[in-house]
Amino acid sequence: MRKFAAALAAAATLYSFAAGAQAYPERTITVVVPFSAGGPTDTVTRLVAEAMSKDLGQQIIVENVGGAGGTLGAGRVAQADPDGYSLLLHHIGMATSATLYRKLAYDTLNSFEYVGLVTEVPMTIVGRKDLEPTDLKGLVDYAKANKDTVTVANAGIGAASHLCGMLFMSAIGTPLVTVPYKGTGPAMTDLLGGQVDIMCDQSTNTTKQIQGGTIKAYAVTSAERLDVLPDVPTTTEAGLPEVQVGIWHGLYAPKGTPAEVTERLSKSLQVALKDPNVVARFAELGTKPSSEADATPAALKARLEGEIARWKPIIEAAGQYAD
Ligand code: ASP
Repeated sequence: MRKFAAALAAAATLYSFAAGAQAYPERTITVVVPFSAGGPTDTVTRLVAEAMSKDLGQQIIVENVGGAGGTLGAGRVAQADPDGYSLLLHHIGMATSATLYRKLAYDTLNSFEYVGLVTEVPMTIVGRKDLEPTDLKGLVDYAKANKDTVTVANAGIGAASHLCGMLFMSAIGTPLVTVPYKGTGPAMTDLLGGQVDIMCDQSTNTTKQIQGGTIKAYAVTSAERLDVLPDVPTTTEAGLPEVQVGIWHGLYAPKGTPAEVTERLSKSLQVALKDPNVVARFAELGTKPSSEADATPAALKARLEGEIARWKPIIEAAGQYAD
């Protein structure tokens, strides 16, 4: 019944699109962020949604559906009506969860339509302000010496923070105590409060805190240092070249959303990514918008397929899965 209603909704959207180019969108659009409010995916989404909303002439509401490394929110959108009014903004976890989770409530490659890539964000290895070590080498020694008590925050299995934390632990050959949250927004609150010790999270969540001296920065996981954090070494400079990872974000719609709608959304995404406020705020947070060529359905599809293939053997070799 739900599928029938969804097919009707999609047909109606398609009809109104054909009847008049301006028909879509006619009402408020919801974008699901599969992590808590206040975290990096949320920050990126709210900036882009505001600019897309100006372009589309309709309000865009951000709904945070955190939990299970982003898979709960993705599942919610996979089940939504494919009418262009329910979207998902997810990151690299969309690709890694396809292998990490033994069971998902959706089929990663077949439950969504693609709108486009949004941004690529570097990660940063950070610690609570009063953590003893002052550099990455010191942190590695400290973590090895205190492996049963050092806590690492993450946003659940498959989250960017989980992947980066896994790379860190595998590079130092020492498993640490992980503490999962529904997003790194609340994890950052606990890092600031000293309830957890370290985290590997996106620059979009950590740059302001590092600049303000409220947390310690040990390294950035990009090939080059970031303009906004010139004193923070890269992991390669600091002696852990294995920990290199960049986080890409994409915008999706449920399978069956009419192509005219995803194309309209893609055009709007391209406009939003050139919006001066988006460009300036992204730069302040150590990231930059995807290019016009990348903010397209074809580029996101290719990225997702490529990343599922790239991470599959890595995850299988690690042999750690979520049920
Ligand atoms: N993207 C973050 C992560 O994967 C979580 C978040 O956005 O809150 O760790």
